[in-house]
Amino acid sequence: MPIKIMPPELASQIAAGEVIERPASVVKELLENSLDADATRISINIQDAGKKLIEIQDNGTGIQKEEISLAAERHSTSKLFSSEQLNQISTLGFRGEALASISSVSRMQIRSRTRDSNSGGFTIIEAGKKISSGSIGIPVGTIVTISDLFRNVPARLKFLKHERTERRWIQQTVERYALANPEIKVTLRMENRIAFQSSGNGDQREIIGMVFDVETARKLLDLISKDSDLSIKGFTSGTSITRSNRRSLNFYINGRPVQDSSISAAVMKAYQNTLMVNRYPICILFIQMPADQVDVNVHPTKAEVRFKNQDRIFTGIQSAVRRALLAHSPVPDMDLSPNWFPTSGENRSQDPTWQMLETSSRTSIISGETGMQDHEGFIGSSSGHQRDQAAFRGSGMRILKPVGQLAASYLVAEGPDGMYLIDQHAAHERILFEQFSLDQTASIPSQTLLQPETCDLNESDTQSLLEYMDSLDALGFHLEPFGERAFIIRAIPAMLGDLEPSRALRILLDDFEEDETPLQNHLREKLIARICKKASIKAGKVLSMEEQQALIDGLEACRAPRTCPHGRPTMIHLSVDLLEKQFGRKGAR
Ligand code: ADP
Ligand code: MG
Repeated sequence: MPIKIMPPELASQIAAGEVIERPASVVKELLENSLDADATRISINIQDAGKKLIEIQDNGTGIQKEEISLAAERHSTSKLFSSEQLNQISTLGFRGEALASISSVSRMQIRSRTRDSNSGGFTIIEAGKKISSGSIGIPVGTIVTISDLFRNVPARLKFLKHERTERRWIQQTVERYALANPEIKVTLRMENRIAFQSSGNGDQREIIGMVFDVETARKLLDLISKDSDLSIKGFTSGTSITRSNRRSLNFYINGRPVQDSSISAAVMKAYQNTLMVNRYPICILFIQMPADQVDVNVHPTKAEVRFKNQDRIFTGIQSAVRRALLAHSPVPDMDLSPNWFPTSGENRSQDPTWQMLETSSRTSIISGETGMQDHEGFIGSSSGHQRDQAAFRGSGMRILKPVGQLAASYLVAEGPDGMYLIDQHAAHERILFEQFSLDQTASIPSQTLLQPETCDLNESDTQSLLEYMDSLDALGFHLEPFGERAFIIRAIPAMLGDLEPSRALRILLDDFEEDETPLQNHLREKLIARICKKASIKAGKVLSMEEQQALIDGLEACRAPRTCPHGRPTMIHLSVDLLEKQFGRKGAR
């Protein structure tokens, strides 16, 4: 076969294939154009999931009448003129391809009018060929109407998913851009119903409320951080709100939604050891940086970007998220000992000692987490302390020595570099959590009861138990149905050996109704979370010296001894250094 240059329509269709995959990709490109045109109102109308009609109207700058046909040609753009500019793109579009690509696989009408013109112009293009153009009366702005998408590319049409799915993609696309542009009123109509509408009042939380739900939106933590020219703003969930997939992680670089595994990793690292396996936080980050620090021209749909300084972004994001989490997690409860700090309750927050103590406990948590050398996410403070901590972890060596118990809730312990206050409930929760969840494959040691016990239950608890027998078995509960609504308990997990068997079992059934429908694959985590929460030593329980020692030993053997499974600190550290400063033995504070 001879080599020939392919006809331009074919070349366009092939090029379009990369960018215009489905109706949602058309919506994305047209939305980006409206945003680039500084619109403050954008409305989108969809029929038949976009296969029949996609129309988008904006009140942006508009296109000069004589340039409208040109806009739909390949490589025609008003956003980029030289290769130098390619290094600092500040608009969403820049390749001058979208309109050309879309028009090569559909019927496209563009109507547009600029502010300084008293009439608008239009052009109609079908499968890449201009059909007609002329003048038309319309308001300032642009209306792009796409019909019969992919009619001339049946293969594409065939690969489209169910209309419901295509509509969901469209919805997500619109929501994603609306979220980044809260001061723009965005309306999406699908099949003659309003599927989404933002008010344009600038309130991002309001939009999050529509995208997720109002309750979740209310609970998300604010996140804000600025480090010279890198600014990160957004929202992130506390450790109690999670999702089962990464779709809840949304990132924007300079207003552009991007997918980036390193950003996801940085976020997940900030949450390390605080979330159950396979759970993800809701995290929406708007990252701003100089345009020349990020290459947006690396991916056909511009969904991925490349950073000049990847490490800086990673560290910045991780510490920003971490800080937001810590700032909002309950301050370690220090209301224990009036003698320790001889200040009265009301003044305490102004007391410099308290402030130092608080910051020192916080910074020690932060610095450890953000230190990149710390690959297992172990939370320790800087320098010498970190070395101790490395030895501390999993070495089997006893580092902490119990001194006594405070308010029947906290253990006071001595370490090589100062004093530790340990929250006994949080510590025990962490220990149980790790024992149950670290090794998914190993079976959990169970303790056979000398005297099997029967346990009578109500109907709904009976149903729950029957359903979860297998999972419970793997967690060390060996049960046998006994009559209609009773079970024989033959064994319970060894680590719950201190509890009365039927109470141990009931722990699992309590509040079962309250839970969202337990998904089979998360059942294990749910059960574990419940056991840890309910079975751990409560505050208020007096512990013998041996029990204190056992708790500290257990904590020392943990992978992440410094936080409970919900991310709250298990211990507060007062370094010798800090004590010396406080007692005026060393330096100024
Ligand atoms: P790009 O966005 O990469 O420049 P497009 O093919 O998407 O390429 O658009 C080509 C040009 O058409 C844009 O550069 C812009 O000047 C103009 N244009 C497209 N849509 C609009 C709009 N909604 N409002 C104003 N101008 C538009
Ligand atoms: Mg564009």
